[in-house]
Amino acid sequence: MTHGAIQLDAVIFGGGIAGLWTLDELVRSGRSCVLIERDALGEGQTIWSQGIIHGGLKYTLDGLLTGSARAIRDMPAIWRACLTGEREPNLSRAPVRSEHCWLWRTDSLRSRAGMIGARVGLRTPMRTVEVDARPRALRDCPGTVAQLDEQVIDTRAVLGAFLRTHQDCIVSAPTDDPARIERIGTGATIALADGAVTLQPERVIFAAGGGNEALRASVGLETGRMQVRDLHMVLVRGDLPELFGHCVDGARTRATITSARTDKCDVVWQVGGEIAERGVSMSPDALIAQAQRELSVVLPGVDLSAAQWATYRAPRAEGVTAGGKRPEDVVVMDEPPFVTVWPTKLALAPRVAALVAAALPAPLQLGDAAANLAQMARPRLAAPPWECAEWRSLTASG
Ligand SMILES: Cc1cc2nc3c(=O)[nH]c(=O)nc-3n(C[C@H](O)[C@H](O)[C@H](O)COP(=O)(O)OP(=O)(O)OC[C@H]3O[C@@H](n4cnc5c(N)ncnc54)[C@H](O)[C@@H]3O)c2cc1C
Repeated sequence: MTHGAIQLDAVIFGGGIAGLWTLDELVRSGRSCVLIERDALGEGQTIWSQGIIHGGLKYTLDGLLTGSARAIRDMPAIWRACLTGEREPNLSRAPVRSEHCWLWRTDSLRSRAGMIGARVGLRTPMRTVEVDARPRALRDCPGTVAQLDEQVIDTRAVLGAFLRTHQDCIVSAPTDDPARIERIGTGATIALADGAVTLQPERVIFAAGGGNEALRASVGLETGRMQVRDLHMVLVRGDLPELFGHCVDGARTRATITSARTDKCDVVWQVGGEIAERGVSMSPDALIAQAQRELSVVLPGVDLSAAQWATYRAPRAEGVTAGGKRPEDVVVMDEPPFVTVWPTKLALAPRVAALVAAALPAPLQLGDAAANLAQMARPRLAAPPWECAEWRSLTASG
């Protein structure tokens, strides 16, 4: 271990999508950086997420081009270029779960209106498809089924791609031996590994999702700048068709379904949208019974009688808004030497990283700090929610 303080341009707290993308952006701009993770990389929102690279569809369902839709509509092209390796960060080693999402509706009138609204102001084109070109799960759905150019990423594989590229400058600081931050003049010092390593960055970036509030409090920054909006997600596992997309009803997303393959090659559906929002006040059993009923309406003709079910609670940490609504854009608070970020959506991580890089002073040309950190422990990747879920089989719908 080193004895002198290691000078750096920036230290980032939190290895979810926001912290990792920001690390990549800062390193590429010639800055010397270290990322500190408390637990596993992506533990929390990034690994819980459905991995949809939204292009703004969800925010145009009422036919209005909202601020959220404007902020997010350039993101799919950026992600697509990174996932094919045509742009940095090169994420070409992370397989994409789906190149497209489907958009469909139930037979309700409100649902028909949502499909029309979604056509307005989108940069991601939407194509209606003939019945025989639909995915198996949507063959029996009433009305139009459309295909959207919204990719669905494998979030764990993307976290892994960042880890491979930057493993030298990503370190662990577990809860039983946390990093201790002290504000010194215009900068800060950070003590790691029980004081054996001291970092001296010009800037400290809090990208710790739900952990940001405690980090801010620890350095005397104003608290109350974060809000938490809960979700109670449903998981369905078994011999299921792969499905990616949104069932819309008016301006609401009635259900958003994405698929992943488990180690045993079963398909797992992550079910979000309104089901998960309404499920917040329900017990897991009540939510599963409700989800069974909903999915029989949303996906007529799909037999889920042999499926297994589980749920997980997933709080979304965001910058605070009046009325507790979702922020329209990313939140980046520059309070030198600290910067606090909440990306609002995984898809907006490139925007967070670009804004942080623009807020930071020019690189100090300090060289590579990694050699000084060779003996530090490294974080693992977080496990997806279906690996930790309590699965149950149901014989009859509740
Ligand atoms: C169920 C669900 C589904 C979603 N689906 C989508 C989707 O399909 N598309 C989309 O664009 N967005 C989606 N989102 C939103 C998206 O997941 C989040 O906006 C995004 O992942 C937030 O990333 P983050 O890096 O800010 O936070 P996180 O992913 O929460 O990462 C924070 C990291 O900081 C670490 N940490 C915490 N405290 C400390 C500390 N003191 N020191 C060091 N490290 C610390 C944590 O262990 C973690 O690794 C979804 C969210 C949820 C909950």
